[in-house]
Order: sequence, then structure tokens, then C-alpha cells
Amino acid sequence: MSTTWRVGVDSGRCIGTSICAGTAPEHFRLVDGLSTPLADVVTPADVILDAADSCPVEAITVHDADDRLIAPQE
Ligand code: SF4
Repeated sequence: MSTTWRVGVDSGRCIGTSICAGTAPEHFRLVDGLSTPLADVVTPADVILDAADSCPVEAITVHDADDRLIAPQE
């Protein structure tokens, strides 16, 4: 497993459901109704993948240290 992941939220897609902040409050919060990662580079944690996979509009992306997309899963 890589040592860091990169987390992004597409503000053009996010519809502000807050599911990600509820699933992983230590990684996402809502700012002005849109999700924002608390950190862009994170220590790998399954809850981040869970949040990305639970987003109904696939606004959250997680890339590994080799820049491979690891969530959301297809
Ligand atoms: S789960 Fe997706 S749509 Fe909902 S707040 Fe998070 S990023 Fe936005």
C-alpha cells in the first residue's frame, strides 16, 4: 500500500449531501454547502474510500502515490 493518497472533491459535481462528512468527518467538511477535504494529501485509511464510494455523484476522487485512481471504484 502506498504511503500517501491524494483526495479531491469536484466542486462542480458536489451537491452537498454531507454523506462524506458524515462517513469521514476527520477528512471532509462542508464549506458553503460543498464538501472540502480537510487535507489534500492523506495517510491511507479505508474510511476515505468508503466516503468516495458513498458519494452519489462521484464527486470525490482518491489517487494513490502512483497517481492511480483507487476510488470511486468502477
Ligand atoms: S457525498 Fe458527494 S455530493 Fe455529498 S457532500 Fe460529499 S462530495 Fe458532496
